[in-house]
Amino acid sequence: MKILVINAGSSSLKYELFNKKLDSLGDGYIERIGQKGQIPNHEKAVKQALESIQEKGLVASLAEIKAVGHRVVHGGEKYSAPVRITPSVQKEIQKLCKLAPLHNPPNLAGIKACKKLLPKAAQIAIFDTAFHQTLPQKAFIYALPYDLYKKEGIRRYGFHGTSHLYLSKVAKKLLGKKADRLVTCHLGNGSSLAAVKNGKSIDTTMGFTPLEGVPMGTRSGDIDPAIAVKLSQKLGPEKADNLLNKQSGLLGLTGKSSDMRDLLATRKSNKKSQLAIDIFCYKVAQKIAAFTASLQGLDAIAFTGGIGENSGYIRAQICQYLPHLGVKVDAAKNRANTTLFSVKESKVSLLAIPADEEKEIASQTLKLL
Ligand code: AMP
Repeated sequence: MKILVINAGSSSLKYELFNKKLDSLGDGYIERIGQKGQIPNHEKAVKQALESIQEKGLVASLAEIKAVGHRVVHGGEKYSAPVRITPSVQKEIQKLCKLAPLHNPPNLAGIKACKKLLPKAAQIAIFDTAFHQTLPQKAFIYALPYDLYKKEGIRRYGFHGTSHLYLSKVAKKLLGKKADRLVTCHLGNGSSLAAVKNGKSIDTTMGFTPLEGVPMGTRSGDIDPAIAVKLSQKLGPEKADNLLNKQSGLLGLTGKSSDMRDLLATRKSNKKSQLAIDIFCYKVAQKIAAFTASLQGLDAIAFTGGIGENSGYIRAQICQYLPHLGVKVDAAKNRANTTLFSVKESKVSLLAIPADEEKEIASQTLKLL
């Protein structure tokens, strides 16, 4: 029996095949699945993925694939756990496109393609928002007219849930009770943090959309909402939206690159690169500190994502703001990306853990089966 994990985006499709023991058997990434200006062809991309799986000899027959786990970005308030995709679930995911107009439609296209090409396999949806459905009201309701929540669904949903869940499980395995009050930091092109108490998400930095929170590759993160109004008046809503989501963050600050590696390589010669790094680290540290109020203390911080798991420099810059919480970095271990990189006497355990959302999706798919 094999499990296929599908992450269908608007222009690309990622896939990974697992066996029952959750060992990865192989993966692939199909880019530019729609030619410029055309509707992306997810069916063709899934077909290509399945052909490649067969060509590589990962399965003798496609009938071995008993289940497909789909990453679905938005599950709204309806889904707090993985679910088998029945026709009515599919309709719900369709309805949720209004909350995630860029993400849910390609996810849905991936589901439809897999249903057609692997009709006997169980199709399971794993939602990015699900892990954050345990947030208390005080954490997810904005101080706006209450009807906006009730009638329009405007509230904090939070994203990267599968990654935060995976991180919290690994932290628990490594630290036991010493991970009861945990801040998980997914720092990549998109970045978010979560406050995780006894394994449950009780707050998170992304909000109604993934735009809220810390600065990211191209997203602004938190700003005075009056700036968005002003930009919208000046540029029109579409251009303002594009500016905040695609032209801000590290890219906006440097005017050159959204890629943290580029910023780190140029920080000594380029003041803007250093400033963007400083802003990023400062804001992440502030969120960690804010979550100590949510958690009533802090036992551990776990870092993941391209930046979080690879850059000792960034982790050290973040941790330098937190000595008053008892955070003490082991510099050599941090530089070497050692999993546990705090010194023994640190009151807070520090972890660097490679992200593996696909494995978590496969694990949840298997559990549901
Ligand atoms: P992700 O979205 O998780 O793939 O992460 C992408 C981000 O991670 C980009 O900003 C990369 O520059 C950054 N990244 C990847 N490797 C490193 C590294 N070794 N040091 C610093 N940043 C890195």
